[in-house]
Amino acid sequence: MKSVYRFGGGTADGAADLRNHLGGKGANLAEMASIGLPVPPGLTIATPVCAAFYDAGGKLPESVKTETLDALKHVEAVTGKIFGNPADPLLVSVRSGARVSMPGMMDTVLNLGLNDATVEGLATASGNPRFAWDSYRRFIQMFADVVLGLDHYLFEDALEILKEDRGVTLDTELSAEDLQGLVARYKTIVAQTWGDEFPQDPHEQLWASIGAVFGSWRSDRARTYRRLNDIPESWGTAVTVQAMVFGNRGITSATGVAFTRDPSTGERVTYGEFLINAQGEDVVAGIRTPQYLTKAARERAGARAESMEEAMPAVYSELDRVFALLEIHYRDMQDIEFTVEDGRLWMLQTRSGKRTAKAALKIAVDMANEGLITEAEAILRVEAGALDQLLHPTLDPKAPRQVIARGLPASPGAASGVIVLDSDSAEARSRLGEAVILVRTETSPEDIHGMHAARGILTARGGMTSHAAVVARGMGRPCVSGAGTLSIDLAARTVRVPGHVLKEGDRITLDGATGEVMLGEVSTVEPELAGDFATLMEWADKYRRMKVRTNAETPADCRTARGFGAEGIGLCRTEHMFFEPSRITSVRRMILAEEASTRAEALAELLPEQRADFEAIFRVMAGLPCTIRLLDPPLHEFLPHDETGYDDVAAATGIAPATVRRRIAELHEFNPMLGHRGCRLGITFPEIYAMQARAIFEGAIAVAKDTGEAVVPEVMVPLVATARELEITKAVIEAEAEAVFEEQGHRLDYLIGTMIELPRAALRAADIARHAEFFSFGTNDLTQTTLGISRDDAARFLGVYVDQGIYPRDPFVGIDEEGVGELVELGASRGRSTRPDLKLGICGEHGGDPASIAFVEKLGLDYVSCSPYRVPIARLAAAQAAL
Ligand code: PEP
Ligand code: MG
Repeated sequence: MKSVYRFGGGTADGAADLRNHLGGKGANLAEMASIGLPVPPGLTIATPVCAAFYDAGGKLPESVKTETLDALKHVEAVTGKIFGNPADPLLVSVRSGARVSMPGMMDTVLNLGLNDATVEGLATASGNPRFAWDSYRRFIQMFADVVLGLDHYLFEDALEILKEDRGVTLDTELSAEDLQGLVARYKTIVAQTWGDEFPQDPHEQLWASIGAVFGSWRSDRARTYRRLNDIPESWGTAVTVQAMVFGNRGITSATGVAFTRDPSTGERVTYGEFLINAQGEDVVAGIRTPQYLTKAARERAGARAESMEEAMPAVYSELDRVFALLEIHYRDMQDIEFTVEDGRLWMLQTRSGKRTAKAALKIAVDMANEGLITEAEAILRVEAGALDQLLHPTLDPKAPRQVIARGLPASPGAASGVIVLDSDSAEARSRLGEAVILVRTETSPEDIHGMHAARGILTARGGMTSHAAVVARGMGRPCVSGAGTLSIDLAARTVRVPGHVLKEGDRITLDGATGEVMLGEVSTVEPELAGDFATLMEWADKYRRMKVRTNAETPADCRTARGFGAEGIGLCRTEHMFFEPSRITSVRRMILAEEASTRAEALAELLPEQRADFEAIFRVMAGLPCTIRLLDPPLHEFLPHDETGYDDVAAATGIAPATVRRRIAELHEFNPMLGHRGCRLGITFPEIYAMQARAIFEGAIAVAKDTGEAVVPEVMVPLVATARELEITKAVIEAEAEAVFEEQGHRLDYLIGTMIELPRAALRAADIARHAEFFSFGTNDLTQTTLGISRDDAARFLGVYVDQGIYPRDPFVGIDEEGVGELVELGASRGRSTRPDLKLGICGEHGGDPASIAFVEKLGLDYVSCSPYRVPIARLAAAQAAL
């Protein structure tokens, strides 16, 4: 494949399907050029050159330079201008563009080709000296920032000082002479801080800029973004060099960004902003307040400045036509950059727009209903993990609230937390478990880690398409941007709003759907899951093969999960019931008992409590299968760990303090997770499992007699390593079942099965399946025991492991397919070899992780089980996996 592709002048070498090679921007520019949309001509240097550039120690291969110069000739031919011609120069932009968009993460240089001679030519040829000098000062600043690595504040300060001297507030109010003076000042700044003159040779400018854009692929912020979004380093970025069109040519010129549908709500309205007499970065940088595109949006916001529809009706209607074309062509919501030069529209970019989960859902369902995409495509369009944003509470509209500031509703959702004024603190404090709200004048790509760590983001400046807004929507963080009355004092660590001075650490609440900022914490309500959500879930259910169950042990959790569509319980961890205050004393008496008879007494106290527990959840889950796991954790987990605790236990149980201490010392283990737990408890204290089994069957029969609708109990034995362990415990459970059926005069269908959570169990699955009617892969313990990594201690070093690519993701979140995954596959196939109708599920945390769900779909498991709030995510992920 070639290294350099051309587009423009009615043709293109590339197309949208070359995205991996040309990057999203390059591929889509080629595509737009070839379908006849107005695109300034240019060339794209393909992504593999990025790796070649790094391999050569940060140099472009000579062959790529030759190809680039050839393609530049094509741009010169289409525009009729020559690069570097002092009389009427061709100017270009140099932009990055990876396979997937990484908004704001890499660098851009505009107006390249200007120097002391060509600026005069541009002034004469355009008849607009102000525009020429404005372009030159912008170029020097960008080049200095991106290529020379100089601090952009030096240049912004110089601009501010000039505006103050001239008594103006907007840069558009500066004259040609002012800007010419500013250029001189900028060149002095470059000479002083960089140590050499600003480069005048356009070719030198070009190669340096291309190098800098490739170099920005490895910038800290780009790396962070890739880590957060699982984007491989090896992809590299493409670089597009494109003829400039100018939005800063006067009042018939403009620049803007738009979405073909509302990226916050998904509504089918044109959404965006533009600025007259400006260049692209002005809109996103939040330097001037942008104007709305449509009259309706302007009126809704109560804004005065004319919308584009009103100020430039002919160009607006052309833009509107292009939007419609693009949506039909790409069959997705598009995010567009455009420029109007002297009344003529040019498209600079189109890509699938980032959107909130709410918008993704609405757009997918609407587009399917509009016939633009199929139901199956709609299912695939919504990222399953992103549904999480919709499943959480929103602010209670009836709750009292003290609104202290208002900004733009940049990314919906409610967030409460303490004010934090910089990204490093946001990350540090959230790591300690604090909910933080990142409050900044404006965010920049350097803030990406802080935004990720924060529950919500609040900025004083910037519009609906500012960096903060775009990134927050992509991350699913609530965001209020451009709250103009906010002023931040970084030295004093305070935030002022009219009537209040807030300190870092004070609590506030944001409503990203209304743009309100409130003092303190505001109460929330459960989300509404009707409408588009219900529609998409219904479609997902049609396409998925695996069932979705829940991990739950309280009636409330069971109700939530059933409401979300859970088709049974996949894991009820009974130990949680033992911690209830009403029974912990009986539990402790049972554990501390030294004789069978005292243990039996304590168990007799627990039986009615356990029966009531099961009865309550079986009522909620009536008609569905319920997997109940017998006691799993080591017994000392139920005992206190300090001296006062010991005395309290002695007092509550009536056992002598000395005996309590001795028994606790006896129960101490060095490696509890590998100690006396799981079925090892059932083997050594069969009476505990017998009591639990009895409670399960009695509870299920009570519900069946009462309602006529039974659950199907699936009694699950944890931490089995050998077939014999299951054989022994199974006999205890069966004996109890028979006894209860006899006593009650009522029989029930039930199953006995086991967790597969030890490597030996996976390996010996064929033997174990002779005694098990189902397997549930406990991938939390299976990961811990296969990797030899303690799940409770892993956080200290796993981050470094993931950074260094040792594991592609945290293996406790996304299943380690190569290792643990192979054991699951082995366990499933060996289990089915001796029992073809063996029921197979997964109940570790991976059961709610979309990538892991896709993996177990391939293994043919029957169901996944996850926490109640992840049930809808699992339903969608299971459908996506099946498609
Ligand atoms: C597991 O080990 O995957 C599991 C579900 O059990 P627990 O998390 O309770 O150890
Ligand atoms: Mg386990």
